[in-house]
Amino acid sequence: MKEIIRQLAYEAGFDCVGFAAPAAPHHSDRLPFWLAERRHGDMNWLERSAAKRLQPSRYRADVGTILVLGHHYRPQPAGPMASPMSDQIAAYACRSDYHDQLRHKMQLLADRIISVVGDSGSIRSCVDSAPLMEKPLAVAAGIGWQGKNSLLVSRQFGCWLLLCELLLPWSLPADQPLPQSHCGSCQRCQRACPTAALDQAYWIDASRCLAYLTIEYKGTLPRPYRSAMGTRIYGCDSCLSVCPWNRFTPTPRHDPTAQQLQTTWQSLTLPACAALNEDGFRALFQQTPLARIGLTRLLRNVAVALGNWGQPEAIPALIHLLHHHEPLVRSHAVWGLAQYAPHSQSTQQALQQATLDETSPEVRAELALI
Ligand code: SF4
Ligand code: SF4
Repeated sequence: MKEIIRQLAYEAGFDCVGFAAPAAPHHSDRLPFWLAERRHGDMNWLERSAAKRLQPSRYRADVGTILVLGHHYRPQPAGPMASPMSDQIAAYACRSDYHDQLRHKMQLLADRIISVVGDSGSIRSCVDSAPLMEKPLAVAAGIGWQGKNSLLVSRQFGCWLLLCELLLPWSLPADQPLPQSHCGSCQRCQRACPTAALDQAYWIDASRCLAYLTIEYKGTLPRPYRSAMGTRIYGCDSCLSVCPWNRFTPTPRHDPTAQQLQTTWQSLTLPACAALNEDGFRALFQQTPLARIGLTRLLRNVAVALGNWGQPEAIPALIHLLHHHEPLVRSHAVWGLAQYAPHSQSTQQALQQATLDETSPEVRAELALI
């Protein structure tokens, strides 16, 4: 039965397939210590769901086996085929939202499984939607190991894997995990991290990670990490892209959505992002993971990226953001403009005018710091 399901999963288009028991995955006992160090930042839902994460059967008692599935998505290397925003937006977001894509594929797979092996219980699909420790479960299912960058690393697909799970009602034997990590003495991901979030190998400090700060975090971006953001506006691929295990990855399946976006985003630049209104934001990003952060948070990130860009076109774009109706955007535009102020008279004038006009305490606090 396991091998039938595995075959159906490959036929459904998944690249990795493994079976894990609905038990505490190896190393999951480290979660309380990680939470106690507040390495999860403001993601308080991780604390609230910790007991279920530690023991999947507490989440659903009727689960017999967790089928862990991986979807390979290696981005195009730099060149004419690369996404026009590949330096600004994490590769997984330069395509239509993987949640929808994977959910659709899993539904087809669940239907196939039921039609072949029979309907004797419910099958539930999860894409970031359930309190499961998906990387430790993928390790338990033999798909790879958790690298020093905290991501799942596969010998075949490197770090470019999106994970999802099907909760099966039948108790099937689990696959064998790899006996050890294959990171060896490599430290490339740790050295590549711009915010030192990987200072301790295998123990990410998510509160410093740019993927967390640019996507999950809703407030004012901490000043120490703004320069480190560079021109990123959504996520970060630095610790994925340097992994030597990526060298062996096969060419991923053709994804027409990525190609469509490439055309739509062809003329997209940081100043063009700064000029977006709600309609423009929806037109460009509605089908992608960027939709979840909304326009205000995107513009907050764009203001910082423009500050780090170092091009003269950044200045009018930042002055435009300095007049945005959201204080969160204006305060980051102040920081962005301050990066150009020593060499730009128009920047100095705009900031002086803002000091006279600004009423928001949040923006005034930022102005007071420059
Ligand atoms: S995603 Fe970027 S910021 Fe986060 S750990 Fe990796 S390299 Fe560091
Ligand atoms: S870059 Fe090196 S240390 Fe980091 S996950 Fe890959 S192999 Fe492991």
